[in-house]
Amino acid sequence: MRHYSAFSILRNGLSGNKHWSRAWRDPAPKPAYEVVIVGGGGHGLATAYYLAKEHGIRNVAVLEKGWLGGGNTGRNTTIVRSNYMMPGNTMFYERSMQLWENLSQELNYNVMMSRRGYYYLFHSPGQGDTARRRTNIMRANGIDAELFDRPEVMKRLPYLDYSENARFPIYGAAYQGRAGTARHDAVAWGYARAADRQGIDLIQQCEVTGYLWDDGQIVGVETSRGPIRASKVALAVAGHTSHLAAKAGLRLPIETHVLQAFVTEPLKPLVDHVIIFGAEHFYISQSDKGGLVLGGDLDGFNSYAQRGGLPIVEHTLQSAKALMPSLSRLRLLRHWAGAMDMTMDGSPIIGKMPVDGLWLNGGWCYGGFKATPASGFCFAWTIARGESHPDSAEFTLKRFERGYQIDETGAGPHPKAH
Ligand SMILES: Cc1cc2nc3c(=O)[nH]c(=O)nc-3n(C[C@H](O)[C@H](O)[C@H](O)COP(=O)(O)OP(=O)(O)OC[C@H]3O[C@@H](n4cnc5c(N)ncnc54)[C@H](O)[C@@H]3O)c2cc1C
Repeated sequence: MRHYSAFSILRNGLSGNKHWSRAWRDPAPKPAYEVVIVGGGGHGLATAYYLAKEHGIRNVAVLEKGWLGGGNTGRNTTIVRSNYMMPGNTMFYERSMQLWENLSQELNYNVMMSRRGYYYLFHSPGQGDTARRRTNIMRANGIDAELFDRPEVMKRLPYLDYSENARFPIYGAAYQGRAGTARHDAVAWGYARAADRQGIDLIQQCEVTGYLWDDGQIVGVETSRGPIRASKVALAVAGHTSHLAAKAGLRLPIETHVLQAFVTEPLKPLVDHVIIFGAEHFYISQSDKGGLVLGGDLDGFNSYAQRGGLPIVEHTLQSAKALMPSLSRLRLLRHWAGAMDMTMDGSPIIGKMPVDGLWLNGGWCYGGFKATPASGFCFAWTIARGESHPDSAEFTLKRFERGYQIDETGAGPHPKAH
């Protein structure tokens, strides 16, 4: 496998681009591995990469029922940030941010990390107090955060609605300058290529349908391509978590909901940051191709379908118009959805399950893309050492037993409200 470099681009360019090698192999599954990771999204692939790189565990397969990155990893709105305030979340997401900063170099693959800044608008004095509290907590933890008043926001984001008739007046914004976006498929492809280089088998079109058991312990998986034995089976299947956990006899505090995203026809550069509307569940950024990328609320029903309903399209576009009336003449190009694994407190679960042989990484709700590097890093640590990494120590299943949820938004046991 060749190293990507300016020299390799030049050499291949001069020889008609005929000598690029495949980014990863397409191996047949072996009968047994030390670790089998179920799910070839960003989290499964990153876990495989860090298992090999940090712990020297290379006898690993990633089993993906479709194609690599075809789940939520390839469907999200690509926002990367670390503006968390609850102990347990704060330093985990900051570790992820630090890993993002050097990820293209580490993987030798351009993940197009764009630190364009992230504004969280507030629309009342009370919301402003909450934003101030979050900003102060972030700063106390050494994480960059600023608070801007209305005149400063008007100067920085002149295209929002500041008129007297604005439905939700803008009072100010919390800002994280290191936050931004990264190209989602490139993250999956970058981790896949780097994991493959470490000798890990990436097996696509291989659905896990059940488990192999020995004396009450999981010792492998049943798949659409035959049984595969493994000392450790690790799930990283996002919206399919509860479904696969149920096959192992586990009932988890996770529900699957549908979340949609939207992209408009391309425009000249206009929105050069990520902007979150504090009055409704709505956010906006602009892709490198010029399309405005819009995100909205969860669809109001549980489903495994990767498509959404029209009420959320209407709600998202109403919010877009309330924030930026100039968008009303813009045409929507397409919309799609992903199956979200929503926990009851909005924070993830990383750890060993009560069934021997089974490990879980799930419950990422709306926010797992930004977590990809730290999630893979900490999950690999947990699988290799049999104990939580200090940064993900609060993400065990035990917090639900003990009643110590990490309720970042104070929404309680309402997945739709997180
Ligand atoms: C519309 C939308 C917008 C989002 N926006 C953001 C954002 O801006 N920022 C952010 O941080 N997060 C965002 N997220 C959340 C983020 O995308 C996810 O949390 C994250 O990508 C989850 O990664 P993953 O690897 O766990 O899951 P996935 O990428 O979904 O990977 C899981 C894989 O498991 C496979 N699988 C499932 N069942 C089986 C089986 N039985 N056998 C084999 N394979 C199986 C699936 O095919 C899938 O490829 C968004 C999500 C959506 C849907």
